[in-house]
Amino acid sequence: MARKSDTRRDVCSFCGRTKKQVDAFVEGPGNVFICPECIDLCYNIIRQEKKRADLGDIPKPRQIKEYLDQYVIGQEYAKKCLAVAVHNHYKRLLHANEGSSDVEIEKSNILLIGPTGVGKTLLARTLAHALNVPFAICDATTVTEAGYVGEDVENFLLRLVQAADYDIETAERGIVYIDEIDKIGKTSQNVSITRDVSGEGVQQALLKMLEGTTANVPPQGGRKHPEQSYIQVDTTHILFICGGTFVGLENIIKKRLGRKMIGFDSEQTAAEGNKQEYSELLHQVIPEDVIEYGMIPELVGRLPIITTLETLDTDALIEILTQPKNALIRQYQKLFAMEDAELIFSDDALLALAEKAIKRDTGARALRATTEELMIDLMYRLPEEPKPRRYVVTREVIEGRADLFAEKPKAKKESA
Ligand code: ADP
Repeated sequence: MARKSDTRRDVCSFCGRTKKQVDAFVEGPGNVFICPECIDLCYNIIRQEKKRADLGDIPKPRQIKEYLDQYVIGQEYAKKCLAVAVHNHYKRLLHANEGSSDVEIEKSNILLIGPTGVGKTLLARTLAHALNVPFAICDATTVTEAGYVGEDVENFLLRLVQAADYDIETAERGIVYIDEIDKIGKTSQNVSITRDVSGEGVQQALLKMLEGTTANVPPQGGRKHPEQSYIQVDTTHILFICGGTFVGLENIIKKRLGRKMIGFDSEQTAAEGNKQEYSELLHQVIPEDVIEYGMIPELVGRLPIITTLETLDTDALIEILTQPKNALIRQYQKLFAMEDAELIFSDDALLALAEKAIKRDTGARALRATTEELMIDLMYRLPEEPKPRRYVVTREVIEGRADLFAEKPKAKKESA
């Protein structure tokens, strides 16, 4: 009998391998043993189950849009398009995992077209957040064809791998946002001696990555060199969102549609009318327009979803200042609250801020700059100001016709 229990000590309770065949056993209560191979197997089973469960939780397009609504103002069409595209993308991933091969769902990389500062990057970033996947922002203009000074496209993937804490499998399900994609157009005027002048080589390099390839990513970044060891990243399931302003694309669309500019009476309405017409025109973009702009047809073919974003008017800018969860004004108010100070913006002040931003013509980006300029002096001395205090920002303050002064807070009445 003693011999029998001795033998059990030498055998994996799961696969029956003997101690001689493996390095060591892990012992559990009641004379149970497990060998390293079985531990590996269990780990893989659990990981696959977890992955399936994660994918099973793909949010519905409506849920994705509702999440985007909390952070991104307006851009309803773009939000809907993105929500559907992303939902389908992750469905495709699930489908691929199940291994059925009847209908292949194509990868739906996305092209976002719209003026600067209207939320392209914000949309991509918020999407990644909504889906809880790693996210990387890259700039297409930093990439150059082999042989020129600059980055290789693989560095985009390195950023994603870093965002995933070097968990390659997680990175392979992430989202990469490639900004300024329009600047690598063939007919681009940006002639530079440090990168290939036509831009076509860069587009070819991007194309491979977008299609799905196993890329060799240099772990240190920079340019690749032969002695280096690489991280291999499969880009098949990575979602690429490309963004660009495509200045002048509206003229290509207009030419195709055979439309003439509509005349306007006053300068004011002309500017507003132009903006509206611009958004409407842009909305009618088809892949051929983008090809005529200078993108190679193969790359455009790999970006099957083309979505346009609108210019932001004063109402939208005011909403951006106040509504999103992390709205700029809310952030300032929180900072002030930490110093026992209250910060209030009058409606007029918000309108003045929005008007100032519109003049700069950089979309919502100008809001931050304008507000920061306004607040810098006060923020500088705020910790030393007497407390508690209340500050009311008015149009006069925004326009520099009055100083921002402190009032005693109304709500907190002094007792005694
Ligand atoms: P781009 O379209 O040039 O990529 P971004 O997404 O980088 O513009 O926008 C710059 C900043 O402006 C964002 O970080 C965000 O604070 C603000 N912003 C732009 N558009 C919106 C929007 N539609 N809703 C809310 N905030 C916006």
